[in-house]
Amino acid sequence: MNFLFLLLSQVIIFPSQPNIKLKVVGQAAGNPNWAFFAPHENENVVNDYVTQQIIERGGVFVILRQDGKRLLRFDIDPFEVKLDPNRIFTKQGRRNNIIKHNPKLRTNTYVFHRAMRLSAALSELIISHLGGTDPSRQWVAIHNNTQGYLGDNKQGIGNVSITQYQQKLANGDSSIIAVSKQHRDEDNLFFVTEFQDFNALKQNGWNAVLQHPQVVTDPSEDDGSLSVYAQKLGIRYINIEAERSTNNFGENHLIEQKQMLDFILKRLYSNNTHINLSD
Ligand SMILES: [Zn+2]
Repeated sequence: MNFLFLLLSQVIIFPSQPNIKLKVVGQAAGNPNWAFFAPHENENVVNDYVTQQIIERGGVFVILRQDGKRLLRFDIDPFEVKLDPNRIFTKQGRRNNIIKHNPKLRTNTYVFHRAMRLSAALSELIISHLGGTDPSRQWVAIHNNTQGYLGDNKQGIGNVSITQYQQKLANGDSSIIAVSKQHRDEDNLFFVTEFQDFNALKQNGWNAVLQHPQVVTDPSEDDGSLSVYAQKLGIRYINIEAERSTNNFGENHLIEQKQMLDFILKRLYSNNTHINLSD
């Protein structure tokens, strides 16, 4: 296993800023056509298990690395520009992302333009290691979130929970179209772009959220996230979210996130086999 791991993993350095790296396990080329991606470095509960599964079953797993934090930092001397690495996949997303995390940075400056160029280049590097943008590709994102959500009256923090998604849908949030809330921890959920996946998850008792296809046509919904970019490209996208401990608040839901991953791998694998058989 250790030898295979060394053989199958490599570290890619972002040429414009070498302290940003991609750890790439497996191979993106050919079959199977699935690519796993972990953009937030502090959301790594299930990463070892994903690595193990990719080595056994094929495909690729890309982990973005810098200093172990959620936000990425561009060092544009003498400034530090912060940004969310899951908001860099479209031009508008990059722009809003840089503005949001650097409120004092003016948009007509060299630093801002440089940050725009760097985030575009990083997006390209990530996508190429995920195997490109052919619609036959399948993307699985790996995330962790905090217990509950801000304003849940249970001291919850963060902004990901199936309860909160249900409220967002009820309040007319136009980025999502359906929510399946089941008797599970509210923080363990799938966020998907394809109705068939949503339906299968719902029927099998999982918490799940289906992204609204109108995120493609409504510019106000273009947040530059991988899910929106996937929908634009017609690429199947599945995000596997589970709770993690944050400063000793909440717990790492490793066992459930492994089960969630197993469910998705089985589904990807059977879909893949089906494609091969019908060819
Ligand atoms: Zn995340």
